[in-house]
Amino acid sequence: MKKIEKAILLFLMIIPVIQSVSAISNVQHSVDGNKVTLNYQGTPPFWINLRGDSNIGQAGGYLWAKTNSNSFSYDMSFAVNPSKKFYYGVKDSSWSNVNNFLIGELTTPNPNKTVPCQHFGYKYGTAKCISNKGCSVITDFDICDCIKSNGGECCSDEDCNLNIGVKGGACLNKQGILNGNSGAKCYLKPQLTGNKKLKLLIIEFAPKDVSYGSICLCNYFGTKSITNTKVYCKDPVQCFNYLEVINNPSGQVKFDYMPPANQLSSPNYVRDGEVRIPHSFYHINQYLKEEALKYGVTNIPEFEIEIKGPLMLDDLPPKTTGLFDYYNVDQYFDEKINENNIDISDFDYIAIIYLNDEGVILGLNPSDPYGVPIIVEEDRHPFVNHAGDKSVYLSLKTQNMNELAAHILIHEMLHQFGASDTYVQGEGPNAPEWCTHFSCCTDPDGIPEPNKVPKYPQTKGCIMCAEAPIVIELGKQIPTSDLGQQVICEKTAKEIGWTG
Ligand SMILES: [Zn+2]
Repeated sequence: MKKIEKAILLFLMIIPVIQSVSAISNVQHSVDGNKVTLNYQGTPPFWINLRGDSNIGQAGGYLWAKTNSNSFSYDMSFAVNPSKKFYYGVKDSSWSNVNNFLIGELTTPNPNKTVPCQHFGYKYGTAKCISNKGCSVITDFDICDCIKSNGGECCSDEDCNLNIGVKGGACLNKQGILNGNSGAKCYLKPQLTGNKKLKLLIIEFAPKDVSYGSICLCNYFGTKSITNTKVYCKDPVQCFNYLEVINNPSGQVKFDYMPPANQLSSPNYVRDGEVRIPHSFYHINQYLKEEALKYGVTNIPEFEIEIKGPLMLDDLPPKTTGLFDYYNVDQYFDEKINENNIDISDFDYIAIIYLNDEGVILGLNPSDPYGVPIIVEEDRHPFVNHAGDKSVYLSLKTQNMNELAAHILIHEMLHQFGASDTYVQGEGPNAPEWCTHFSCCTDPDGIPEPNKVPKYPQTKGCIMCAEAPIVIELGKQIPTSDLGQQVICEKTAKEIGWTG
């Protein structure tokens, strides 16, 4: 018995070795519609047999072919085969295993496939991306070759050539007019010029039991200081919470008494010898007016702002998975607007504000007053700020007692007037080597003083670079503390119509 067992084992071990030496290998197929492509390795010439049964190598079948190539393609639509299932084998000195495929299915990514995508500037996924990279990996809609699928619109003003095609122009990409879409209309964003009033409705939404951060003027051992959490202000003189700060109609909350900057015992909220309190949404008009003046532009639209909310949500927005995952978020808030019977038809623009309180410090643990504070730990499903067709969507952190709320509103609203981002993403396949952050301001468009000598460090930030940081060296940047350091840079000024 023992001898026999040994012999069988030896036999089993030898067979695979012999097979791998002489037989054909790496046989693979891919199907695109009715066309099948076989790939394989071995020693030419190769024999190929395709048939409706698995008797590979027998006479007959749908197809026999002989080739010296490592790849073989054939359109199988000639074959009468209701099951659409085909068996195949490839032979050099011996036959491969018998494989099969189904026609009419897609087993490999098709570079020409139209992939639905949601972009900056377009809601509801009606824009189509016909790039073979697929939308999810593309960080700049201008390179996505995207248009709305049926008689739709250009991705951006830059893609539009008003002299070509039917009335209204046609969409272009770098290769020329997009195939089959020569009738696509140009959709030019209005520019931020002219003396007119624009109605902007800001609708705020908050999860149930939302908490807000505070900015306080505090007594601090006989002097005063400003803190960004009430919790650490043992003897507050006056406090404003996050909502009071971002919604203040005058553009900025004002403490009843504010000591001169040099008498504040902490440097928080002081820059260049001045106290700088975060601005509210209403500051957008003054900001734009001052920036326009720098370009000699005096006539710009004024936003008439109305704020509704915060409306309490009994659920959370859908969780997003990536940068371009906007569709569900936009739809969620559109439904909430309907549910709350808010009539938006009267307004030129809508700003949806989601108040995300994750991270807000609620207090100090009474049993451990000097230890870890109690904070809001719930994941409130924040999303990436973005601009839709006539709407902007902001996900703001209610712990941030800083300029971010006003900054983000201005940034996203500028997108509505043709401004493009002046940063690149530091993640994903399109990230340049020099950028290792979430986002990096570009040179020269993303820096205010590209002609400065030496160029770096810059002294201010560009509003269309996310959060408008100061670039101290390409790819390295530090945050700006207030809108006074955040300017409308040249590229943006041109895009919104302030310069030729
Ligand atoms: Zn942007």
